[in-house]
Amino acid sequence: DQLGPTVCVGEILVEIVATTVGNGFMEAQPLVGPFASGAPAIFISQCGRLGGSAAMIGAVGADDFGRVNLERLKGDGVDISAISIDPDYPTGSAFVRYRKDGSRDFVYNIATSAAARFGWSEGVSNLIGRAGHLHVMGSALSVPSACEVIDKAVDIVKARGGTLSVDPNIRKELKLDEATEQRFAQLVAKADLLLPSGEELERAAGVEGETSAIRRLFEIGVKEIVLKRGADGATYYSREGERVDAPAFIVSEIDPTGAGDCFGGAYLTCRRLGMSATDALIYAAAAGARNVTVVGPMEGAGTREQLDAFIAATERRS
Ligand code: ATP
Ligand code: MG
Repeated sequence: DQLGPTVCVGEILVEIVATTVGNGFMEAQPLVGPFASGAPAIFISQCGRLGGSAAMIGAVGADDFGRVNLERLKGDGVDISAISIDPDYPTGSAFVRYRKDGSRDFVYNIATSAAARFGWSEGVSNLIGRAGHLHVMGSALSVPSACEVIDKAVDIVKARGGTLSVDPNIRKELKLDEATEQRFAQLVAKADLLLPSGEELERAAGVEGETSAIRRLFEIGVKEIVLKRGADGATYYSREGERVDAPAFIVSEIDPTGAGDCFGGAYLTCRRLGMSATDALIYAAAAGARNVTVVGPMEGAGTREQLDAFIAATERRS
């Protein structure tokens, strides 16, 4: 952590959640929100809450939805100096309703919101010049201005001895255009830590089968992999062939959104604070599990004290 803060780049949103289970938004219905959201923002919130030095790059509108996010992140101890406030576009948003089978209906406003309108600025340049770690979500690569920031930032952070983590966050079926696909592959190859979930592992490796995918990723340069498996836990793999399985904590899931981001933010922060992979995995699993017990994408992100209490009080699967 000595080298400088963990920096995350990407979309900042509010989420508004239907309070009933069912299909879509075609009738007037009760909603709850706005909650601060956006996968990169959830990740960095968890970093800050856990006591890691953390900073965010992105944009919000000059509206209450933007202020909800800025105040939330600031309150978590996150440096918000490189979050710009767009004078013309509203803060990004996602309306979400869960269906009976656990799948979700969304109404998004991201591409045409402030969330997608940020670029290389003086504030961003100052922050990246003192960053110790960069975290990138694959989903940010569909935003051209985010790509510009990420490309420059990766080189600068790596050149000053910093590290990179990548959460592919790209569904297996999702086809990217050639240039984005190449950029994604290059980012993966440069990752000191890769945090795929489920079949994103094979997607990132371009190879079928878990063992083959892991082998290929280490061949192309990845240093450490933690595979997330939802309620089935997570697994750490090292280049040296070490494997550590982390069983999930037993909780009742209220709102699964944000589990992977809290897990990743906690894991990375603990590693940067000097913990072993085994210990970091326990905090990460606790952070993911605790977050699904609370409504709102990052409302359950825990502080060190809250996660210690959660770990002491909660059974784990065997
Ligand atoms: P996201 O939907 O945020 O993208 P993800 O697919 O990236 O999530 P998951 O594997 O769903 O990530 O969750 C990350 C970690 O959080 C899991 O490895 C597990 O440790 C914990 N976790 C997630 N869901 C549950 C659950 N229902 N019960 C217990 N732990 C959970
Ligand atoms: Mg994920």
